[in-house]
This record gives sequence, C-alpha cells and structure tokens, in this order.
Amino acid sequence: MTELFYDDDADLSIIQGRKVAILGYGSQGHAHALSLRDSGVDVRVGLPEGSQSRVKAEGQGLRVVSPAEAAAEADVIMVLVPDPIQGKVYEESIKDNLKDGDALFFAHGFTIRFDLIKPPANVDVCMVAPKGPGHLVRRQYQEGRGVPCIVAVEQDASGNAFALALSYAMGIGGTRAGVIKTTFTEETETDLFGEQAVLAGGVSALVKAGFETLVEAGYQPEIAYFECLHELKLVVDLMYEGGLEKMRWSISETAEWGDYVTGPRIITDATKAEMKKVLGEIQDGTFARNWINEYNAGLPRYNEYKKADSDHLLETTGRKLRQLMGWVHDEV
Ligand code: NAD
Ligand code: MG
Ligand code: MG
Ligand code: MG
Ligand code: MG
Ligand code: MG
Repeated sequence: MTELFYDDDADLSIIQGRKVAILGYGSQGHAHALSLRDSGVDVRVGLPEGSQSRVKAEGQGLRVVSPAEAAAEADVIMVLVPDPIQGKVYEESIKDNLKDGDALFFAHGFTIRFDLIKPPANVDVCMVAPKGPGHLVRRQYQEGRGVPCIVAVEQDASGNAFALALSYAMGIGGTRAGVIKTTFTEETETDLFGEQAVLAGGVSALVKAGFETLVEAGYQPEIAYFECLHELKLVVDLMYEGGLEKMRWSISETAEWGDYVTGPRIITDATKAEMKKVLGEIQDGTFARNWINEYNAGLPRYNEYKKADSDHLLETTGRKLRQLMGWVHDEV
C-alpha cells in the first residue's frame, strides 16, 4: 500500500532543531538551502574555495563555508553535488566529519544504491527527492505550494530517521503537495528509467524524429518546430491537469482518433522490449558503471552529443522563433 504524508503528518520543529549543511548550490542546492532557511532552519552552504556558486549563495543571504567545515558543523548533511562526484566529496569532506547521531541526506539514491558511498552504522541515511526540477521546487515553495517528494530511509541509526526526513521535506514545501514513502532502490531505478525512457530521452528522440520526418518531406522547419516541440507544452499541461482524458477532451476528435490508431505504431512492442532492456541495465548497474567511467574520462561522448544536438536544425529553428515570442523565456 502506498503511504502518503501531508503537512499534518510532519513536525517542522524536528528539522528546526538541527544544524543543516547543504553541499552544492546548483538546481536542488539553492532550492533546499533557501526554502529551509525561510522555514526557520539553521542552514550553512558547503562549497569549495573559488566555486562560482559561492557569490550567488552569499548574495542570497546564506553563510558559505567549505564542504568539510559545513559537514563538521552540521548534524544533517544534504549532499547536492552532481551524482558522479558524490563519492569523492564524501571521502574528502564528509566521512571524517560524521559523528554519532548525524544524518546523511540525499536527493537521489544513486551513490548509495550503487555502493559508491558506504556510510558508517552510527548515522541516519535518508533521502528527500523532490519530483521536479530545483528551480520549480523553489518557486512553488515561494508561492505557498510545493513539489511532491519521495522520501526513504536506508539506515535508521537514531530510530527517528523517517520523522526527520519528513520534517526536512516539510521545510522545502514537499508535504504541501504530498510525500510518498519509498526505498533508495525504488527511487534510483524508477528515476533513472523515467528520465531515460520517457521524460528526457524518450521525449527528445520523439520530438527530433517527428521534426526530421516533416523537414525531410519538404515542409518548413518553422512549421515542424511548432507542431513537434512548441505544442508539446500545451498537450503536457493538459495531461498534468487531468491525465490523458483531459488532453483528449481538449483536442479535436480527429486528433483523438489519430492518437488511438497511430500512437501504438510509433511506440511499438519492440520499443517496450527495448525499455525492458534499458531497465535491466539500470538494475544490474551497467548504466551506473558506464556513466561513472564517462564522467571520469572527462565527458568526451557527453560533450559530443551535446554539441550535435545544439547544432541540430530543431534547435537553431527554435532559438530563432523563441526570440520572436519574448514571453516564452519566462515560462517553466
Ligand atoms: P547541479 O549540477 O545543478 O549543481 C551541483 C552543485 O554542486 C553546484 O553548485 C556546484 O558548484 C557544486 N559542486 C561541485 N563540486 C563540488 C564540491 N566538490 N563540493 C561542493 N559543491 C560542489 O546539481 P543538481 O542537478 O542540483 O543535482 C544535485 C543532486 O540532486 C543529485 O543527486 C541529483 O540527482 C539530485 N536531483 C536533482 C534534480 C534536479 O532538479 N536537477 C531533481 C531531483 C534530484
Ligand atoms: Mg543539471
Ligand atoms: Mg557533523
Ligand atoms: Mg527524476
Ligand atoms: Mg534523475
Ligand atoms: Mg494540431
């Protein structure tokens, strides 16, 4: 049975009674640090000397110290540096600064699930993973709303780790929207699968293939861009509000008929078989191993892919069109 938790189930005073270190000040880091502070929590940010993010965090009124100092001062340490370097940051700045009763927090289970960090037995190990990008986590909090979070306890040394994690989730607005209890394994595997097969990988490939098909058939790239990328937001907004049903209520009957008969010809049994293979490679650690190797090699293929897509006609067309629609930049 799914266990759901809201504001009434959480106790903000637990996290207000702790000293929190936020390591990293990127997408999630800034959102957690600022919202916890606004929730009355004692926050310090841990960043290396010379980090670009230092000026930003200080400018937003936060106290910044080195990652090791932050870990030493704090009794709740949230690790919000990129997943592939969390192991190194743990060895260099966290490990020797963990005391009995401290809590080690993550927003994604990657490094614990794939054994890149092995915490000692005397600390709580928790996850509070917002199901949305960091900038939305912050914006929703400021608007009195919240992004739903999933919360897990890997190790409960104190006996109160779940209540602590729920309290942290409340501090960033998560319990306003709803918190679901999960495990590090379930979060890591579903998150990696979701972003690869559907949210990032699946959608990017679908949009590019549709755009290329129209352009190769001689249609104007601008029309193809509107049809395959721009309109996607309108469709997804309706799905977000009311599922496939609401989207289908809004589109024409012709579009709905095309949806039913053509969708399964695009995403076929072969696609689903490949999705199962992708999930298998996530579960058996193949994806994690390859990603860490790529990262440690200096990201050669990552940068190649990034460059190729940046030069793609879809992107050059979109850049031009979005300039003519000034308001588009402000929407998330
Ligand atoms: P990011 O890339 O946006 O930011 C990383 C931050 O870490 C930067 O401020 C950088 O300066 C800092 N940093 C780099 N090296 C450091 C070091 N040695 N010591 C201290 N700080 C260092 O990262 P992100 O996307 O916010 O991801 C952080 C974590 O949150 C990851 O575990 C990720 O999987 C998880 N997560 C991210 C999102 C998201 O919205 N991006 C959503 C859910 C979970
Ligand atoms: Mg990023
Ligand atoms: Mg400490
Ligand atoms: Mg995700
Ligand atoms: Mg992810
Ligand atoms: Mg149409």
